[in-house]
Amino acid sequence: MTNTNNWGSTETSLSVAKAREIMLEAVTPVEGWESVQIRSALGRVLSRDVVAPFDVPAHDNSAMDGFAVRAADLSGNETRLTIVGTAFAGAAFSGVVGAGQAVRVMTGAVLPRGADSIVVQEEARVEGDTVILPAIKRVGQHVRRAGEDLAAGKSALLAGKRIGPAELGLMASLGYAEVAVRRRPRIAFFSTGDELASIGRTLAPGEVYDSNRYTLYGVLTRLGVEVLDMGVVRDDPVIMEQAFTEAAKQADAIITTGGVSVGEADFVKDIMSRMGEVRFWKIDIKPGRPMAFGRLGNAWLFGLPGNPVAVMVNYYQIVLDTLIKLQGETPIPPRPSFRVTCTEPIRKLTGRREFPRGVLFQAEGQWKVKLSGNQGSGVLRSMVEANCFIILPEDGNSVEMGDLVDVQPFEGLI
Ligand code: AMP
Ligand code: MG
Repeated sequence: MTNTNNWGSTETSLSVAKAREIMLEAVTPVEGWESVQIRSALGRVLSRDVVAPFDVPAHDNSAMDGFAVRAADLSGNETRLTIVGTAFAGAAFSGVVGAGQAVRVMTGAVLPRGADSIVVQEEARVEGDTVILPAIKRVGQHVRRAGEDLAAGKSALLAGKRIGPAELGLMASLGYAEVAVRRRPRIAFFSTGDELASIGRTLAPGEVYDSNRYTLYGVLTRLGVEVLDMGVVRDDPVIMEQAFTEAAKQADAIITTGGVSVGEADFVKDIMSRMGEVRFWKIDIKPGRPMAFGRLGNAWLFGLPGNPVAVMVNYYQIVLDTLIKLQGETPIPPRPSFRVTCTEPIRKLTGRREFPRGVLFQAEGQWKVKLSGNQGSGVLRSMVEANCFIILPEDGNSVEMGDLVDVQPFEGLI
């Protein structure tokens, strides 16, 4: 934080990519960890590798229902073997398969000693206590080897992995009841603006209900951080300063909305710079242009614009990955985008990276995209009705009907 030159100057306008890069570089994961029951670890980030305490699978076993045999016995087209027993998953065959013998096996059963291959049930013809089998195709066929999934002592999951359903299952399969996860970052947020009313009371003329605290509550709760909702803060320097002081004492990061443009009553900018180490950027993004990033005491500071759609676009496109890094997830998961045909024209000027909200739909077996209605930066309906961002690069111009555009589905954004 000493080299403020890296933070970009107030004057120049920054690309979305550059802003993200500067923020990602500055932030380090929160320290501290706790041990939790694996179910409670869902959505959390591993603070240590999860090591396989034994081979998975633990034994050579059958991948199919069928017969365990010695491959050397099955050279001819059809060979009759004597069935000497059965092996179930969970109840092994205790003997040894000798020459001319076979053991009936169920999927998951430990491979009986003496046998080296499995012939599937569909290829077998049982006659009394004998079975007639075709020639073997490959020694070891349909056998799952001990340690094939994971060898004992190897890391099954790496520190920094976010735990989803598959990771939960994997940890359970290794017998872990508890796991070490990083402490959840605590993120404080408040809305600024004299025109804002909290829900629960009637609106006075000129007032609007504060919606940003609710979208932020939503995205942050999904992300799995601890949230600290500090309410609406008046455009009053004294009250605002108190709010920042209070937030910085308790939180790892503070997110504010509103008050970062150059309006008369936009105190946020001044107060942030007076209290902390903060850079204001004009970012080449639409919707949303002004944004602040910095440090206040021990907390990271994100000053987002006030318009409700701008808040969401800035959050997802610029802030989210930084918070993911704060949580300790590594690597930062890539966010897929793909190209589809746009079925309507979109007006755009060069210079800013625009994120109109779109609706991906299927027509004639193809995915296509259209706009989700009024794209005003205060019109939340455009987010509600959308299922993707359309990504229009800085240097791009207007889109004609039928052009290909990049889309980033909301599905997968946390
Ligand atoms: P500002 O960035 O403070 O100038 O706000 C830009 C616009 O967004 C204004 O029309 C505000 O009324 C609106 N706005 C700011 N904060 C909120 C909020 N928390 N909820 C709803 N609208 C807001
Ligand atoms: Mg304001």
